[in-house]
Amino acid sequence: MPTFLPRFTIEQPSTLAEASQMLASYGEDARAYAGGTELLLAMKHAGLRYERLVDIKTIRGLESVEERDSSVRIGALATHLSIERSPLVRNRLPALAELEANVANPRVRATGTLGGNLCFAEPHSDPATLLLCLEARLEIAGPDGERELGIEEFLVGPYEVALGVGELLKAITVPLPGPGQRAVYRKFQVHERPMLGLALVLDLDEPDRHIRSARVAVGSASPTPRRGAAAEKLLGGALAQVERRLDEAADSLADDAELLDGRRRRPVWLSNRPPLGAPSRRRRQGHRPGGVHGRHPSAPDGVRQGASQSAGTRADQVD
Ligand SMILES: Cc1cc2nc3c(=O)[nH]c(=O)nc-3n(C[C@H](O)[C@H](O)[C@H](O)COP(=O)(O)OP(=O)(O)OC[C@H]3O[C@@H](n4cnc5c(N)ncnc54)[C@H](O)[C@@H]3O)c2cc1C
Repeated sequence: MPTFLPRFTIEQPSTLAEASQMLASYGEDARAYAGGTELLLAMKHAGLRYERLVDIKTIRGLESVEERDSSVRIGALATHLSIERSPLVRNRLPALAELEANVANPRVRATGTLGGNLCFAEPHSDPATLLLCLEARLEIAGPDGERELGIEEFLVGPYEVALGVGELLKAITVPLPGPGQRAVYRKFQVHERPMLGLALVLDLDEPDRHIRSARVAVGSASPTPRRGAAAEKLLGGALAQVERRLDEAADSLADDAELLDGRRRRPVWLSNRPPLGAPSRRRRQGHRPGGVHGRHPSAPDGVRQGASQSAGTRADQVD
């Protein structure tokens, strides 16, 4: 397995249209290059070879984070660090800001982009799981113009997304939360990559202690993050009743997760609360979310998902 970076040419387009044209004409010989934290590693260690890297960081305006049309719009080139530090994200999507603060390490957070994270579609990653529950939409630009996709349609499988030849992710839009929305993301991990991620978004009627609707997803354990329709039903209704149904909801979420290694694990987070009540900051130790083995055919050569040894909680917040 090579441990050196193969030779390549860097192209520096100044517009998205130019980048897209380059990628369309070079086809499989080229890839978009954002922060490079996944791409260069895969080229160095996993035998991926591209003659040309199209450096999209030279395109202005793709890194902005702004409020637009009742949404937070995050440019595909916004880094994990810039999202974590964005006052808009901190105020309106605090669970996303917290998630970003716990991605990888300071070096990866400073250079790695949200767009690169979603486009690489490594199953062991965090943002897609929460974005699925926040019903994010993705703006895509390509040789035939622009289109929009829900994140659930974008994520096809491990290392596989719904981007056509020459298409680039332009931005991620997340609807602004209503006044009763509460979101939480919690992950369990080995070293720097998550082994299990759980996201929960509730629409709460606080005075009545009633959950109008719930969205829940499990990530890093399935080929792509999965929402659990049955669990979501069980998590709606009067808080006191929902509390009694948490075990059942946890079981049905595990059923829906289609775990990568086929082993069924109950999401301990749902059954060992407190997810619904007051903000909490607890650390759990020794949770073993289950080993993950094998390699999806579309994964880069040599990229193998390793077995779990031990794990602890990194992110643990209720906003
Ligand atoms: C040590 C380490 C620890 C990590 N830990 C975590 C973790 O805890 N949680 C987590 O979620 N992630 C983790 N990651 C993954 C990290 O978040 C990603 O590496 C990073 O976000 C990828 O962004 P990038 O800009 O570097 O992408 P790049 O490496 O530049 O690109 C990745 C892929 O996406 C494509 N691409 C990039 N941008 C676009 C675009 N706009 N349109 C179309 N295609 C595009 C590239 O062609 C390439 O195939 C970790 C990574 C490392 C190296």
